[in-house]
Amino acid sequence: MNLQEADKHFIHTYNRSVVFDRGEGMYLYDTEGKQYLDMGAGIAVSALGYGNEEYKQGLKEQIDKLIHISNLYYTEPSIKAAEYFCQASGMDRVFFTNSGTEAIEGAIKLARKYAYNKNKESRGEIIAMQHSFHGRSMGALSVTGTEHYREPFEPLIGGVSFAEYNDLESVRKLVTEDTCGIILETLQGEGGIYPASEEFITGLRKLCDEKDILLILDEIQCGMGRTGKMFTYQQYGILPDIMTSAKALGCGVPVGAFAAVEKVAAAMCPGDHGTTYGGNPLATAAVCKVFELFEKQHILEHVNTIAPYLTKKLNQVAQKHPDTVKEVRGMGLMQGMELTIPAKEVIDACMEKGVVLISAGTSIIRFVPPLIVEEEHIDRMCQVLDEVLA
Ligand SMILES: *Cc1c(COP(=O)(O)O)cnc(C)c1O
Repeated sequence: MNLQEADKHFIHTYNRSVVFDRGEGMYLYDTEGKQYLDMGAGIAVSALGYGNEEYKQGLKEQIDKLIHISNLYYTEPSIKAAEYFCQASGMDRVFFTNSGTEAIEGAIKLARKYAYNKNKESRGEIIAMQHSFHGRSMGALSVTGTEHYREPFEPLIGGVSFAEYNDLESVRKLVTEDTCGIILETLQGEGGIYPASEEFITGLRKLCDEKDILLILDEIQCGMGRTGKMFTYQQYGILPDIMTSAKALGCGVPVGAFAAVEKVAAAMCPGDHGTTYGGNPLATAAVCKVFELFEKQHILEHVNTIAPYLTKKLNQVAQKHPDTVKEVRGMGLMQGMELTIPAKEVIDACMEKGVVLISAGTSIIRFVPPLIVEEEHIDRMCQVLDEVLA
């Protein structure tokens, strides 16, 4: 397949380089049959790797039964998925969406509705973080902390201010009578793989409790087992008031969610929010299968076993190339390698050699492999990375 030909009919928002055809386990194959080791998981989505038999079987059975019916009705998969999700997250009620961005939209609306119910005059202000990423729709973009993503699309929603991640004082300074929510990724992804400090997360929890502000944690990328707990806030022993999920939630079938504790969830009533597809039987059958397979395949235990190996090997690569590698940081199977050179050059060269990697920002390589990754895959990736950096 010809790339130039393929490019002709797309609005040019991505620079694509390969035409992929199929996947199996940790590997992808392009239309020419070339094999690639995948360390990007379709941007942290394909946690179970490719072609998981039981996952595929579950979807096929659901396709035969019912694909869509709208949210005017319940279905067995949607009921079960909601139960699984609430159990895993510690939230009381969930709303399924089609994407991460829509989960963020829902979370913002829920926070505003909660504030509105308390005080009809509330301006519903939100504090977000610099370098955050929450999505591309107007609401999600409004709380995304990268100026050049936002600027061309202004005016966005009002009442948003940006604090410094991991700087509690900078958040405190922005709090007003009208602050209804503080939104952040529990581990910043797109913005450069920055984990939150314990003091920051627990300090925010306390601040929110004192002022009845809602703590909104975006777990779209760092959730679903990637850092070794089902959701990363569980590493800090706290619960948010609202949280969002997507990416690995359906392991490839488009589905997201926003969820909340009872007192907050109760702010929404029929008519306040909706979606035609969101959480349809096919999507929620995928969610059910994902939770069941995480349990059956002991995915969390595996992440906790294998992640230290990834960190060790990445640090070895970093030590061998002190001129090009500035730092390795992250949590679990969500790691970043900050370079002194453009990440794209390294990623393109790795792709040539059959290893798929993605970036975060311009100078960081992001490692978000399928959670089934084994030592042999990490070895091969690090060998290729070492060759390329040399
Ligand atoms: C990917 C991502 C989103 C947006 O999700 P989409 O499914 O692309 O809409 C939001 N927040 C975070 C942290 C993400 O990584």
